[in-house]
Amino acid sequence: MQQILLAINAGSSSIKFQAFATDGDRFDRRVSGLLEGIGSQPRLVIRDGGNTVLATRELDIAAVPSVEAGEAIVGDWLTGAMATDAIGGPIAAIGHRVVHGGPDFSSAVRIDDAVLARITALTHLAPLHQPKNLAPILAWRRRRPDLPQVACFDTAFHRGHGELADRFAIPDELYREGVRRYGFHGISYEFIAEKLQEVAPSIAAGRVIVAHLGNGCSLCALRGGRSIDSTMSFTALDGIPMGTRPGALDPGIVLYLMREKAMDAAAIERFLYHQCGLKGLSGISNDVRVLEASDDRLARLALDHFVYRITKEIGALAAVLGGIDALVFTAGIGENGADIRARIVAGSAWLGLSLDEGANRARRTDLGAGTSGPRVLMIPTDEEWMIARHTRRLLAIA
Ligand code: ADP
Repeated sequence: MQQILLAINAGSSSIKFQAFATDGDRFDRRVSGLLEGIGSQPRLVIRDGGNTVLATRELDIAAVPSVEAGEAIVGDWLTGAMATDAIGGPIAAIGHRVVHGGPDFSSAVRIDDAVLARITALTHLAPLHQPKNLAPILAWRRRRPDLPQVACFDTAFHRGHGELADRFAIPDELYREGVRRYGFHGISYEFIAEKLQEVAPSIAAGRVIVAHLGNGCSLCALRGGRSIDSTMSFTALDGIPMGTRPGALDPGIVLYLMREKAMDAAAIERFLYHQCGLKGLSGISNDVRVLEASDDRLARLALDHFVYRITKEIGALAAVLGGIDALVFTAGIGENGADIRARIVAGSAWLGLSLDEGANRARRTDLGAGTSGPRVLMIPTDEEWMIARHTRRLLAIA
């Protein structure tokens, strides 16, 4: 029986959603929406299943100061769309991206009161992200209490990590209370692991490093389609540099900020989430396109450092995997940043990676130079598709 499923991905300054018509294993995208620029220049863009823009609404910043306010706008649009059959029928269920699932959620789960309480209790592990993910869950529970809702966790795909990868070198009691190397972007990595079976079945079972390079950035080591390690850890701050986050830091820097700059936890949190990374280092922007267009010395340095750190971590994950069969690029920078891709591959030539410049510029799936070395691939991620898949699965067994 055909059902319409809605997938909602509420981030720190944007809300993405997609509605799929699904019948068995087929998922046809009916509509997708992006409300971006929340708190700065809010704008809602709705597209049909073929990616043609159906509507664009520039919104007043005063009307959309927060993700919660943005959720109401998206909710109103969806409610109207359901009434006019614009998405192909009534919604049967909603799946949500939830950043943190803590130590216990190792797969997607249907949301009931107890699950909601557990997700809410994990807010301290992702204080800036978890409340944004909770906003649409709570709003839809009020709006349509009859609709089943599902939570898909960014940490769940990594919960199979071995204990060596899951630990910090700190006392055991902290591990037992949840101070672990969780890893994030798991919904995206799971999608890529599935997609590899289709686009490169010969390497899907092998050793693959996936570079999810968007506003948040991380790398994941896959063996046989399962995550075995990742650069993000306890929070989404660790690992490689990002748009506004620094990636791995000497913890001594946090002590320095406390002692020498008299910064408290809230000030350090703002600094680490919003004022570092490409933006902090360049002093100009978190956007790779802006930095690439600039001849400022620090803009160039920020990009050089970004590539250097990613190349270094690819080496570390290659060591963990004992060599690699493929490197996969995904997310905003990974899918669109041809220069960044070329520089990362050049820096990883020692692993046998090489790039076909024409394929790289043309944004093909297969970017490799066709030598006998590991493959280089670009696969657009689709977290909402993965969320819809989990939602369907959980509905079927409910
Ligand atoms: P999010 O993590 O919010 O989902 P995205 O995956 O959409 O973010 O990635 C957003 C980032 O993608 C932007 O900050 C920008 O740096 C980068 N990006 C988008 N287009 C390009 C491009 N043509 N070249 C390089 N980087 C790009």
